[in-house]
Amino acid sequence: ALTIGVLAMQGAFREHEQMLRSLGCVVVQVRKPEQLSRLDGLILPGGESTTIGKLMADFGLDGAIRERAAAGMPLWGTCAGLILLAQRIERSAQKRLGLMDITAVRNAFGRQVDSFEIALDIPVLDGLDALSTDGVDETAIADKTVDAKETVDANRTGGHIRRGAFPAVFIRAPYIAEAGPDVQILARHEGKAVLARQGHLLAAAFHPELTTDDRMHRYFLKMVAERA
Ligand code: GLN
Repeated sequence: ALTIGVLAMQGAFREHEQMLRSLGCVVVQVRKPEQLSRLDGLILPGGESTTIGKLMADFGLDGAIRERAAAGMPLWGTCAGLILLAQRIERSAQKRLGLMDITAVRNAFGRQVDSFEIALDIPVLDGLDALSTDGVDETAIADKTVDAKETVDANRTGGHIRRGAFPAVFIRAPYIAEAGPDVQILARHEGKAVLARQGHLLAAAFHPELTTDDRMHRYFLKMVAERA
């Protein structure tokens, strides 16, 4: 089984933990630098990016995470986690990991609608089932695939969501305003980049851990399995 860490300073780390456990992972709530050595991958959850960034520095985790990332450990930031991965944050000097060649804009989708759910087209999730999952618990993943599809098809808004689209939950979400040449934009909402990958680094503006669709988690685990 893969061992995945979830940075547990503040925010939605328990929801990521549950999703990862349901996919057969060993999960570590990360609060100390020593815990990083046994991880195959690390998730930076949503929450309040200034708070998480400050606590990460206070606990001596920022340098330790940068070291593991430089050695190739896959990282995935969701929402506040995307902001922490960004090299540039518009109009902010807040603490960050600064690993991805992107510019994050915080609270980017307007104040009047703090949170919303949309059907997001994510082409890299198409055919996910056919991809190799070496090192991942394939039985758990196969079961989950059926669940996720049924949930999307049957429960979601009676046909409002396109088949195969991902139910993306945005909560005071950031977006990616600029990205360097090594960054692939994997999804956009209203023309704004909301999912991006740079090698072993993945950043999502939305909260896949708050849905029952686990395809984004399986996509990340595939990245991890390819590195492990
Ligand atoms: N707006 C938050 C921030 O800037 C992120 C929101 C979230 O993670 N849901 O930190």
